[in-house]
Amino acid sequence: MNPLRVAIVGFGKIARDQHVPAIAATDGVELAAVVDPNVSRPDVAHAASLVELLRHGPDIDAVSICTPPQVRQAQAAIALAAGKHVLLEKPPGATVAEITPLSAAARAAGRTLFTAWHSRYAPAVEPARQWLAGRRIHSVRVIWKEDVRVWHPGQAWIFAPGGLGVFDPGINALSILTQILPQPLFVISADLAFPANRDAPIAASLTLSDANGLKIAAEFDFRQTGPQSWDIEIETDDGLLSFSHGGRKLRLENQPLVDSAKAEYPALYRRFRELAAGGESDVDLAPLQLVADAFLLGRRRAVEPFED
Ligand code: NAP
Repeated sequence: MNPLRVAIVGFGKIARDQHVPAIAATDGVELAAVVDPNVSRPDVAHAASLVELLRHGPDIDAVSICTPPQVRQAQAAIALAAGKHVLLEKPPGATVAEITPLSAAARAAGRTLFTAWHSRYAPAVEPARQWLAGRRIHSVRVIWKEDVRVWHPGQAWIFAPGGLGVFDPGINALSILTQILPQPLFVISADLAFPANRDAPIAASLTLSDANGLKIAAEFDFRQTGPQSWDIEIETDDGLLSFSHGGRKLRLENQPLVDSAKAEYPALYRRFRELAAGGESDVDLAPLQLVADAFLLGRRRAVEPFED
């Protein structure tokens, strides 16, 4: 079978840190080009825009769109119109509704649209989903706190409208919750802290629930220095299930269930390859809908200005 020839669109931090090594590690997928206005690689074809790549080649089968979310929709629409399969980095877009026409275009063209929630491929996620199925869950607590200066240095887009602010990492926790909990979730309340000089929140406290009245509390903060926290605690009839390290570790009370360095992105590319082989899509907007609802319902507080 011919390999899936992928162009990475937006050659920034995540493209270099994760997509390039994951593509190299995945059979049946190869990096054919990079598209970025300013960044290139000596060993692979480069274009400054997707339109230029599609005009002048090389031939590709698929794009992985790793640009900031504000410009993704237009790029995905161009790629699908040209008959390419599309992987969208998370979040899949800057708004929820912009994905619907992309899904329709993918369906009409028999091509793949993949909303790639990378955190769902963390090694603890599937074991946790299976363990929780059929158990009584009392409460959930999410602590997702990281240092924006370490993980997003100089990324002005993240605090611009559509950049999501602290929900850029927070949506990863929401993508895990919506995968492992048995019922659909909804937002009950949100408190959003906006730096006085920015258009997106730097911290957020959310209360969520489901049809059974489950209590879910989530704390997201971009101002964490020192140890970083990507933790989820789930209180059940059979004990406390704890995720840590973003889903690399899972414990039941004091008993380790998963402790793995296994990477998320190679699994993401194996899934993309399978989807593209059948021209099927995998589109889930639930995490982005929760973020949008937090913005709809959230009480806003101004906090001290953020300087990079
Ligand atoms: P980044 O370092 O700012 O990279 C984005 C790249 O896209 C930059 O090179 C940027 O160029 C380029 N770009 C902007 N507009 C473009 C356009 N119209 N066409 C082509 N390229 C364009 O951001 P990132 O951290 O890689 O994040 C990108 C996405 O990946 C975000 O949605 C983020 O949520 C997701 N993600 C990031 C991480 C992480 O740890 N950083 C982890 C998982 C997922 P300029 O800099 O010249 O504008």
